[in-house]
Amino acid sequence: MSVPAPAQQHQQQRAAQAAATATAVRAVWNSTDPDDMERSWLARAPVAAEMIRRGQLSAASTAESWLDAEVGPGAGRLDPQAAVAATGDLVPQLLYPLLIAWNRISRGMSIAVSMLSGAAFLEMATRSLVADAGRIADMAGMIARPQVVSYVRVVELPACARCILLAGREYPFSEGFLRHPNCDCTMAPKRPGDGWTPQLPEDVYAQMTPAEQRRAFGEAGVQAIDAGADIAQVVNARRGMTTVTRYGRQVQATREGTTRRGFYGSRAAQFQKVPGATYSRAKTPRLMPEEIARLTKGDREHAIRLLKKYGYIA
Ligand SMILES: [Zn+2]
Repeated sequence: MSVPAPAQQHQQQRAAQAAATATAVRAVWNSTDPDDMERSWLARAPVAAEMIRRGQLSAASTAESWLDAEVGPGAGRLDPQAAVAATGDLVPQLLYPLLIAWNRISRGMSIAVSMLSGAAFLEMATRSLVADAGRIADMAGMIARPQVVSYVRVVELPACARCILLAGREYPFSEGFLRHPNCDCTMAPKRPGDGWTPQLPEDVYAQMTPAEQRRAFGEAGVQAIDAGADIAQVVNARRGMTTVTRYGRQVQATREGTTRRGFYGSRAAQFQKVPGATYSRAKTPRLMPEEIARLTKGDREHAIRLLKKYGYIA
């Protein structure tokens, strides 16, 4: 038996929210005037920011009702806004599409193709931001329920080889959720005595059509697995995978780098003058739920106090 049906439905709902937001945000980018890209995008970016924030909020808002139904009430009410804020400032994410497009143009590509590259990045960033807001809320909500002792990765097909390899894997909360850009995997809460055993990568593999197998693992990978190789031997599991915590640090470092080079500071200042752009700004840097779990070393009461302190639950 795989993860319980509600956990699978929860994953599907999250994936749909991320996809819908990404489609809407992409449409805003596509309405940018190609002849005046910077001015035109900076004027539209606050609209995109608001869409992303709304998508994140609706994703994070589903955590509480789902966990209430699955495992009962937590030690406090989840504040979905805190999970959204924990995903950080949107300004870098909204300026990168422009940078990417300029970079392509400077390398001689057409404006149309360059704008497509910007759109692809923006869509990826949007999906990831919505999924992360939801997963941060889920993790905070699970830590706030001491009867939940660990979490299991929920993978829905189609999925990439790395996620298939991690399907059904059980983690302590102190281990951040490994994800890659566009990753739509979620978590299922696990309590002692939960009678279900999650799907194994081999089970997931067996459910895939030959075409899906080739897309995820490549021709050589499929041949190796079919010849009896372990999936773990065929897949480089950590490549491109990161936790929210590590990703947040990367974004911060990149932001500091671009500030020094002058690009970021001037555009961010311009962008933040636009009415509505305050939406994009995160409040305070905060500890991620996974960091709270790590710092409190299994002391759930202490973890819950910190979740309250950082505003994840009230
Ligand atoms: Zn994946």
